Amino acid sequence: MPAGSKGLFRPTVCGYANGMISFPKKLLEGYRAFRTQRLPTEQSRYRELSERGQSPEVMVIGCCDSRVSPEVIFDAGPGELFVVRNVANLVPVFEPDGGAHGVSAALEYAVNVLRIKHIVVLGHAQCGGIRAFVDKIEPLSVGDFIGRWMAMFIKPGEVVEQRGHETMQDFTVRIEKAAVFRSLENLMTFPFVRTQVESGHLQLHGAYFGVAEGSLFVLDKAAKEFKSVRDYAA
Ligand SMILES: [Zn+2]
Repeated sequence: MPAGSKGLFRPTVCGYANGMISFPKKLLEGYRAFRTQRLPTEQSRYRELSERGQSPEVMVIGCCDSRVSPEVIFDAGPGELFVVRNVANLVPVFEPDGGAHGVSAALEYAVNVLRIKHIVVLGHAQCGGIRAFVDKIEPLSVGDFIGRWMAMFIKPGEVVEQRGHETMQDFTVRIEKAAVFRSLENLMTFPFVRTQVESGHLQLHGAYFGVAEGSLFVLDKAAKEFKSVRDYAA
């Protein structure tokens, strides 16, 4: 056990074993594994990041889905990814209306302070947010927060419907990928993003993660389609 961690998990200290707290045991065990296995190999990196601050070059906008963790998929270490996750990996349009906008705030910081060089919008298969959208589910609460959040995916007057020949599965996948396209489109409505992109200091990317196979597809903007990373030379 590394120096400094002595007694951290003694039941009388952490308390979960004697019922003092209800913090999930799984998380405490995970933290113990992190502290004993991973932290020793990355301690100097953490100290450096603490002293120097973060300077990630990549921002990932992904879904809340527990199966689609950007740090896991891209095998990223501390300080490497600036991550924003929300339902269905959506980016709203630039809307300086005086309201509180979480994704916009993160974007503002990433682009204007961190000077991020790449923004990756990461979509995925079996997205619950997209499924709620295509199934036109009833509001889950009086706030209809998911319904209102997903509504920004479509433009005023736009109709998104299943095509005649399309299975529900194909329709859902098409919309999961369309959410990435729409988010990339919306990113360019932010003046500070557009300026950086047009000056060549910032690049926007789309990607799509296949949960079952752990497969990754990257958007080929010229072809307007997602291509398996296996098609790219290593
Ligand atoms: Zn999702």
